[in-house]
Amino acid sequence: MNREEKLNQLRENPEFEIVIIGGGATGLGCTVDAASRGYKTLLLEQCDFAKGTSSRSTKLIHGGVRYLQQGNIHLVREALLERGRLLRNAPHVCHKLPFVVPVYHYWDKFFYGFGLWLYEFLSGKFSLGKTRILSKNETIGYLPGLDTTNLKGGVLYYDGQFDDSRLAVNLAQTAVGQGALVLNYCQVVDFVKKENKVVGLMMKDVLSGQLYEIKTKVVINATGVFADTLLQKSEGHAEETIAPSQGIHLVLNKSYFENFSAMLIPKTSDGRVLFVVPWHDKLLLGTTDTPMQQVDLEPKPLKEEVDFIVNHFNFYSKVKIKYADINSVFAGLRPLVKSGSKQKTAVLSREHSLKVFPSGVVDISGGKWTTYRKMAEQTIDKVVKIADLTFVPCQTKRLKIHGFVSEKSNSHLGIYGSDELLIEKMMREDVALAEKIHPEYPYTKAEVVWAVKEEMALTVEDVLARRIRLLFLDAKAAMEVAPVVAQIMASLLFKDELWEREQVIAFRKLAQSYMVSV
Ligand SMILES: Cc1cc2nc3c(=O)[nH]c(=O)nc-3n(C[C@H](O)[C@H](O)[C@H](O)COP(=O)(O)OP(=O)(O)OC[C@H]3O[C@@H](n4cnc5c(N)ncnc54)[C@H](O)[C@@H]3O)c2cc1C
Repeated sequence: MNREEKLNQLRENPEFEIVIIGGGATGLGCTVDAASRGYKTLLLEQCDFAKGTSSRSTKLIHGGVRYLQQGNIHLVREALLERGRLLRNAPHVCHKLPFVVPVYHYWDKFFYGFGLWLYEFLSGKFSLGKTRILSKNETIGYLPGLDTTNLKGGVLYYDGQFDDSRLAVNLAQTAVGQGALVLNYCQVVDFVKKENKVVGLMMKDVLSGQLYEIKTKVVINATGVFADTLLQKSEGHAEETIAPSQGIHLVLNKSYFENFSAMLIPKTSDGRVLFVVPWHDKLLLGTTDTPMQQVDLEPKPLKEEVDFIVNHFNFYSKVKIKYADINSVFAGLRPLVKSGSKQKTAVLSREHSLKVFPSGVVDISGGKWTTYRKMAEQTIDKVVKIADLTFVPCQTKRLKIHGFVSEKSNSHLGIYGSDELLIEKMMREDVALAEKIHPEYPYTKAEVVWAVKEEMALTVEDVLARRIRLLFLDAKAAMEVAPVVAQIMASLLFKDELWEREQVIAFRKLAQSYMVSV
């Protein structure tokens, strides 16, 4: 994926059937769906793919055990089917993971055992394994790091896990493979209207400042928590549709909690669930649910959110953690759909909302990563009707995502799927590229080159936050490798030393905000 080439294509022919704004899970999903049906499709992302909420999830492909507790069977069933499809279509970035719910009252064994049996039952032919009630010793076998005071046993169930921003990049590549034009660092700044209907838009290339006018039959607004800003422009009305809710995660070294499965804490002090999940050889702890008034591309974790997770983790873990043990903390904003007077974001529906606004803009908001494909299918079905396009049925139920391999390797490069072989070839041809960028992590210089040449990474942050996940895994280590990453990128992107220095300064400033100050 070469951005300059793609901008040239846009200059040559700035007319599309469908333009999608927002390069997160929702927008990328819509782009893959539209392009694979053969429509002339453009995706515009103002920053990097998955820069927003879509790189900040709990990394679970799940039906949502919590929504089952709330009695939302439809949402759970739909998400479980999508979980199955995603595991089938993108096995290189997604895998099944055992989860154990520790229980401290005998009655809870049956309560959670039944709930999680139902959870598995609802997944039908996409079941990932049998839910099972565990004895105390079996529970400790799965979670040796668990504080066993008053422990009565546990319940084992299975769910899916993935790497969110890597899947986003793979979706962008899939969309390109299906004929879409996909651009990052391109912000939609205004709409072009004719008789009050949107017939095009103005896009600014954020890197050069150049403005482009683009014509289209229909625009899809898939901008997550930023949806209202664009709706203000297209509709000129002030009614807000999104209630942002912040969730944060902490990342620790795995030595703090020995485990052979993930752990689900079924009831936190605010009545939600909390996950302790192994991820890229670390432990991911989260999340929170804090209503926010402001939206930001870099939301800031609150001290009380960090304390909430630390306190709950320490209650369940033999080893008690403190701030200094946290490698990284990151926050994301859920784009929850506003409904009536319900103010507490924890009770707002996680279902998505699909609306056509008077200007003709189609807005798709809410939902989950897990259900991005289904949301896209429904959106494009709707778009085809309102834009009077020739109907072509959805193609994505079995569409293989870029990188698909039937058997994933055990190397850390396994997550690249079929691209792993190409990265290895680069390292064989130039052994200097096989050098690691940090002694404690497996990432190589070849991956930086690959990210720039094949995955449209344009900044140090794009590489260290969303192509490899070092910023999310260990903010200090990410700061340390920034100069070497900047140097490799500068030579590939024909940038000078000033660019390199500015990139390192900007990245280190950002990485500082991923560290918990003691
Ligand atoms: C803490 C947390 C944990 C979660 N955990 C899970 C989980 O484990 N599993 C799961 O399935 N789901 C999970 N979710 C939900 C999931 O992450 C979101 O539903 C999903 O990522 C939303 O994607 P999106 O594309 O709608 O929004 P975003 O990812 O925010 O994408 C919107 C994009 O629009 C771009 N944009 C905005 N304005 C413009 C403009 N003018 N021009 C061009 N581009 C623009 C933004 O830069 C952004 O990249 C979680 C969410 C949170 C917050």
